[in-house]
Amino acid sequence: MTDANRIRKIAIVGGGTAGWSAACLLGRIFARDDTEIQLIESSDIPTVGVGEATIPPIFEFLQLLEIDPVDFVRETQATFKLAIEFRDWLKVGHSYWHPFGNFGVTIDRRPFHHYWWKNEAQGHDDKVADFCPSIALAEQDKFLFPPADGQFPGGALSYALHFDAGLVAAYLRRISEQLGIIRLDRKVERATLDDRGHIDQLHCDDGSSVSADLYIDCSGFRGLLIEQGLDAGYEDWTNWLPCDRAVAVQSEAVGPRTPYTISTAREAGWQWRIPLQNRVGNGYVYSSAFISDSEAQARLVGSLDGKPLADPRVIGFTAGHRKKFWDGNCVAIGLSAGFLEPLESTSIHLIVTGLNRLLDYFPDRNFDPALQAAYNRETLTEYEHIRDFLMLHYYPNQRIGEPFWDHVREAPLPDSLAQKMELFGNSGRIISRRRELFHDLSWFFVARGMGLKPKSYDPLADIPDFHDVRDVMGQVSGAVGQLARAAPTHDQFLEALITP
Ligand code: FAD
Repeated sequence: MTDANRIRKIAIVGGGTAGWSAACLLGRIFARDDTEIQLIESSDIPTVGVGEATIPPIFEFLQLLEIDPVDFVRETQATFKLAIEFRDWLKVGHSYWHPFGNFGVTIDRRPFHHYWWKNEAQGHDDKVADFCPSIALAEQDKFLFPPADGQFPGGALSYALHFDAGLVAAYLRRISEQLGIIRLDRKVERATLDDRGHIDQLHCDDGSSVSADLYIDCSGFRGLLIEQGLDAGYEDWTNWLPCDRAVAVQSEAVGPRTPYTISTAREAGWQWRIPLQNRVGNGYVYSSAFISDSEAQARLVGSLDGKPLADPRVIGFTAGHRKKFWDGNCVAIGLSAGFLEPLESTSIHLIVTGLNRLLDYFPDRNFDPALQAAYNRETLTEYEHIRDFLMLHYYPNQRIGEPFWDHVREAPLPDSLAQKMELFGNSGRIISRRRELFHDLSWFFVARGMGLKPKSYDPLADIPDFHDVRDVMGQVSGAVGQLARAAPTHDQFLEALITP
C-alpha cells in the first residue's frame, strides 16, 4: 500500500449511541495520525432514545475506549446487571433466569451443566441458584465485584450495565471532541455517488457539502447512506421474529434497584423493566398484527410500578438486516445496519462488534472487495446466531390458545436453529463455536427455562461414582450461599461506589 492510498478523511453520519461510539473508537485509533474525522448529526432529528441494557462485553469496549468504568457508572446513572429474569414466557406464573457468568465448576474437564441433567435424572431437585453466583445474588437484590485474584466460588461472576442512553451518547461525545472529532450540526439531505458507485459527497440542508474517503452510516433505522444512497436492500426477518413495534416510557423508581432486567411475556410480545439509579425504563415490544398501538400503550402504562415520567412513545421497526452491511466506501453501524428486538440486549453489542470488525478489515482507498465480503459474511453469521437464540425464547412456549403465542410456537424454525435443537434434545449438547456470542450455558439456561429437556446427557458426565459429583456440588452450593449472604445489597454497593 502506498501512503497515497491511506484513508485520510472519515465522515460519520448520526450522533446516537452508534455514531458517538464510532467517533470515540476511531478517535482513539487515529489519535496520533492526521486522519480527519467528522461527525454530522442533526439536532432536529432525535435519536431513538432507548437502548439501556447491555451484556458483559460492554466492559471490554469501555477498556478499549480507555474509559474508567466507575466514572462511567457515575455519569450515566448506571446500575449493574447480573441476569435477565424471564417471567411468564413458558406459561403464566412461571419464571426463569438467564444469568451471566458461570454455573458450577468444571468436573473432570466437562462443564457442570452436563452433570446437571444426570443429577436431575437421579431424582435430585437442587436449585440452579445454589450453583450460580449471579442468580444467587440477583434473587436477593445483591451485588459485588468479584475478587481481583479471579478466585470465586461456583465459577466466575460476570455482569453488565443498565444505563441512560442519552447520557452515554453525551459522555462519548465529550471524549470524542477532546480527541479532535469535528461535530457538524446539520441535516444531510442526500448522498451523491461517483462513477464506481461509491459515495462521493453528502449534501446538507444549509447548502454545504461534505466529502470523505470512508463513510460510516449511523443514521438510525432510515439508513440514510446505506439504503437511501446505496440501495443495499433489507432482509426482512418478520417471519422469524414477528414483533415490529415497541412502546416505551420511563417511570419513577420504586423499591430497590434490581441488579437484573425483568422481561415479562405479554399477550402480543413482552415487556422490559430496566432500573437505573434515578428512574426505571419500561417498554412493551409487540407484534402489531396481534395488538393495536393504543392497547399496547394502555397495557404498558397500566402495569408500571412507578408513576410515568412522560407520555409513552411508539417506535416501529422491522426485524432483519441490510443485505450489505458494508457497501463500497460505506459501512452501516447501529440501527442503520439492522435490528433484532432487544430481548437479550444485543444491539449495542452489535455496534461494538461492527466497529471492531471494521478495524480488523480496515480498508485503504482501493476498497478491496474481499475485505467488504469478509465483513459482510461475518456480520451475517453473527445476526443469524442472535436471531436463533432469540427464537429459542419463543417457540417452546406453552401459552396455548393465545393467538400471538400460538403463532410463534407453530412457525417453522430456521435450519440452523432446528439442527441445534435436535442436538440439544437428543443429548443436551449445543454447537457453540468460540466466536458465537451466546455460549452453551446461555442456551442451557434458556432452553431449560422454556421447559426443554434432553432425552439423554453427555456420556462423559455419566461417571459411575456420582457421589464425587455430589460432594463437589455440596462444596459449590455452600460457597455460593456464603457469598450471597455476605454480599451487600445492590443499592448499598451502588451508593458506596457513586458517592465521591
Ligand atoms: P439513533 O439513536 O436513531 O441515532 C440516529 C442519529 O442519526 C441521530 O443522531 C440523528 O440526529 C442522526 N440523523 C438521522 N438522519 C440524519 C440526517 N438526515 N442528517 C443528519 N443526522 C441524521 N440496544 C441495546 O443494546 N439494549 C437495549 O436494551 C435496547 N433496547 C432497545 C429498545 C427498542 C424499542 C429499540 C428500538 C432499540 C433498542 N436497542 C437496544 C437498540 C439501541 O437503541 C440502538 O442500537 C442504539 O441506540 C443505536 O442507535 P443508533 O445510534 O444507530 O440510531
